[in-house]
Amino acid sequence: MFGTLFVDEKGEIYPHPEYAMLGRSGSQWLEPCREEMIPLPKGSTLVSMPGYLAVGCSRDGRPQAVQAHPYKEGTVWPVAALLPQGFTRTLLPAAVPGPGAAELPLFGYAAVGFEGEQTLVAAVQSDEYRTWHPIHYNTSGLARRVQGTLKRFPDNRIYRQLAHCALDYSCFTAQNIFYQRWEGGVPSMPKCNARCLGCISRKHGQAQSPQNRLDFVADWQEISQVCILHLEKAPRAMVSFGQGCEGEPALNAENISRSIRAVRQNTGRGTVNMNSNAGYTKGIRQLCEAGLQNLRVTMFSSREEDYLKYHRPEGFGLKDVADSIACAKDHGVYVSINLLTFPGFTDRPVQVEALHHFIQKTGVDMVQIRNLNIDPDRLMKEFPSVEPGIGIVDFLYRLQNTFPGLRLGSFNHPHPGAI
Ligand code: SF4
Repeated sequence: MFGTLFVDEKGEIYPHPEYAMLGRSGSQWLEPCREEMIPLPKGSTLVSMPGYLAVGCSRDGRPQAVQAHPYKEGTVWPVAALLPQGFTRTLLPAAVPGPGAAELPLFGYAAVGFEGEQTLVAAVQSDEYRTWHPIHYNTSGLARRVQGTLKRFPDNRIYRQLAHCALDYSCFTAQNIFYQRWEGGVPSMPKCNARCLGCISRKHGQAQSPQNRLDFVADWQEISQVCILHLEKAPRAMVSFGQGCEGEPALNAENISRSIRAVRQNTGRGTVNMNSNAGYTKGIRQLCEAGLQNLRVTMFSSREEDYLKYHRPEGFGLKDVADSIACAKDHGVYVSINLLTFPGFTDRPVQVEALHHFIQKTGVDMVQIRNLNIDPDRLMKEFPSVEPGIGIVDFLYRLQNTFPGLRLGSFNHPHPGAI
């Protein structure tokens, strides 16, 4: 059994003297089991949920809201964890909105509790996270590197956008471009052919979007310049189109295809990846023919009605997504599903069955488990609980067991054939 934590207005976190910890799956509150909890990993951020009430389990086994500070005067709120890359959330925080509570910003809230002196989080490790460990980012030398690059390439708008993302949003893939290592982001297209409920570059009702979209369409010269420099120099080099600050990159297929060809005339190193909704099959085909190596397809559900309701696509559906994947596979592209994961939705038996069917049909190489950044109540309003989930731990186990050759992880990896 784990204990309930709460936080006061000063940001001080306290153990509740009595209530056992509860977590949330869909619209259900559950006592977490041991395999759903791990010590809080380095690089996690603990956040308060202002205007909400933490819910724990009292000694008589009933859910109880933490209405007041058990030790002194003052307002108290629930505390949640935001996990670093490489960790998958198993339960959401058990919390209820208080009077006048605002919609929560778009983050992937995970439940936390304590055992003895230790803080634990409802999560499992789903990938090695050496290259994404926050210790490698926002270092003292970053600003100097950014200024140096802007001075060297004053006319390249992508570098200016990346400078903004690296320094103002602390975006890791933007920073990697200036550190010249690993996976670097190359944003190029503000337009999108979808309106996803949890889009992080669009304002949603009261909730501010974590990032603003770039305001230009990059041309092939700008794109090639950034890609060539990164792929020629970076260890474990990868360039990724489709970043948090842009729309759908495949809509810029003309420029990106031309830049991939120009890049490959200069260097054979590294991996060219695209994070996409894969709805624009004609664009995906053009990119595969130009030499795209990895394609990551973002999906909330493999059930048509839920897919359409979440992604709100314009002019395409799941069949187009499957056609794009088939085209990519025909060109030897390494294809991943970027599964937007939400405890109590993704692990519903009906969703599990549809996902297994989709993997069977398309033959994707990897499933990346991505904690969905959204206000839990907002999502449950759209997708009310019809059946309880099987649990995220069991969901991952069954996925790997059913598809032993499938790679499970949390982020992009270089193409198996990359040099
Ligand atoms: S596909 Fe990406 S950019 Fe487009 S709406 Fe969805 S999350 Fe936003």
